[in-house]
Amino acid sequence: MKIETLAVHAGHRVDPATGAVAPPIYLSTTFERSQDGSYPHGYDYIRSNNPNREALEKCLCELEEGVAAAAFSSGAAATMSVFQAVGAGNHVIAPKDTYSGTSSLLREILAPWGLEVSFVDMTNATKVQEAVQSNTRLIWVETPSNPLLKITDIEKICAIAHQAQALCVCDNTWATPMGQNPLKLGADLVVHATTKYLGGHSDVLGGVAIAKVEDEFFKRVKKIQKTGGAVASPFDCWLILRGIQTLPYRMRAHSENAFKVAEFLNDHPKVEVVHYPGLKQHPGYEIAAQQMQLFGGMLSFQVKGGRDMAFAVVAKVLLFTRATSLGGVESLIEHRASIEGPETKTPDNLLRVSIGIEHVSDLIDDLTQALE
Ligand SMILES: *Cc1c(COP(=O)(O)O)cnc(C)c1O
Repeated sequence: MKIETLAVHAGHRVDPATGAVAPPIYLSTTFERSQDGSYPHGYDYIRSNNPNREALEKCLCELEEGVAAAAFSSGAAATMSVFQAVGAGNHVIAPKDTYSGTSSLLREILAPWGLEVSFVDMTNATKVQEAVQSNTRLIWVETPSNPLLKITDIEKICAIAHQAQALCVCDNTWATPMGQNPLKLGADLVVHATTKYLGGHSDVLGGVAIAKVEDEFFKRVKKIQKTGGAVASPFDCWLILRGIQTLPYRMRAHSENAFKVAEFLNDHPKVEVVHYPGLKQHPGYEIAAQQMQLFGGMLSFQVKGGRDMAFAVVAKVLLFTRATSLGGVESLIEHRASIEGPETKTPDNLLRVSIGIEHVSDLIDDLTQALE
């Protein structure tokens, strides 16, 4: 079946007990055992599993064409669990410009715990190859990257990982399964912050890891999910599953709008450069055009006039909301360097925008007056 159909139906069924078309939310923390001690419905305790989480995991699995999924309480919890499954004493390679939360996790929590980490320019396959060590077990890919929308060749990095008998994991939060399918491009695992496009309405926190094969590694991830307990609540699972139903249509609108906004900004005299992989002059355009079906709803741009001008623009927007995060139906804008903190390498004149599904002329009108 096609993704539009899967988004609506995967993980859904009419409730056999009541005929309810929308799924019930099962808040129960515990489930009844039979007289012989077994669990006739397959559920025992909420941390191990519950019907809402099972439905969400089934749906996400089908969207990414994987075989198994583990839903977490946040994207960061999903990321943390995958790295924990690698185990202390081993080595991982991550992008230099990985999501700042992932970078903090690796530097401040996992490295002191004993995981060896190298940060490399993931768009440069030679640099990735050079970073491989005898104990490298995993290469983490995130494409498009944050906030410069750099594009990594997923197939190429997967080949390097597999040659080194390491896993390749792709954080597919920005592209979503509508934008690219890392498992088909060779990745072993896909991670999402479902907080973003999958939830889609800026009202729920969640994460997921989806596996191409249910191997020992994924069983460890699942073990960490159930034992560590950073699981998504039934209501959060319900909200994400509901959000996913419109994902294909939202992503088309996000991408179409983002492309038009990128073209508008690209022609604007007060804009120095636009970072959007759908623009032909973007350094990652060729690879993006090959591995992506949609270029997505995220872009960033650098204004002439430095930090002051960047702050002046965000101060003037009326329709865009000044806020971090992304992937909701409403458009957001943020001065990225100031949210990433003093260590950031993000240019001071850079604004990152999450383009929503409003009418694109209204978005362009707002940016026009803000840039005046
Ligand atoms: C937001 C985000 C995360 C972290 O997700 P949370 O749900 O906020 O924990 C990880 N990776 C990327 C690319 C993100 O945008």
